[in-house]
Amino acid sequence: GVMLARQLPRRVVVPAADDMTALGARLAARLRPGDVIIATGDLGAGKTTLTQGIGEGLGAAGPIISPTFVLSRIHHAAEGRPDLVHVDAYRLSSADELEDLDLEETLDRSVTVVEWGENVAEILSPDRLQITVLRSADPDDDTRTVLITGVGDRWTQADLDELGLDDLEL
Ligand code: ADP
Ligand code: MG
Repeated sequence: GVMLARQLPRRVVVPAADDMTALGARLAARLRPGDVIIATGDLGAGKTTLTQGIGEGLGAAGPIISPTFVLSRIHHAAEGRPDLVHVDAYRLSSADELEDLDLEETLDRSVTVVEWGENVAEILSPDRLQITVLRSADPDDDTRTVLITGVGDRWTQADLDELGLDDLEL
């Protein structure tokens, strides 16, 4: 079969919402045009908050809010940085509907973040950063656990190391 590079997930403990933004900004520093991020997690987990941090890191024009009804929105970034394309795949029920969003048009020159993207990940790109945001079992605990996995040749062990997740102080 085809060998697809898939690294062990990195785990980051995120105590509060502004830490999630800081994590996103840290990721953004290493993101390149063409990068795809698939964000998974329950409603309210923090996928949009993470995307806001990525947008901040890219210097993207806000506000970055869930593209629930438009399904996809483009945020133009700072000079020399890739634009942020923010997708909400929750309501996508077919590959045709995904195609209608014309994501290919911006994919190569942007950073594409797809909330609820687990079902479209493989169609969208063989190379992606898969991020899962988990809530605590205790509803009064704001702590989130973020699992980050690189899929495909883009995300070697070295690329993941370069994200600097270990020395991120949250
Ligand atoms: P999703 O896009 O996954 O549905 P959102 O990012 O829209 O989730 O919402 C997450 C909510 O949880 C926000 O209101 C945010 O302020 C809050 N929150 C509290 N603690 C955290 C945390 N540690 N990380 C992320 N969000 C948090
Ligand atoms: Mg959201």
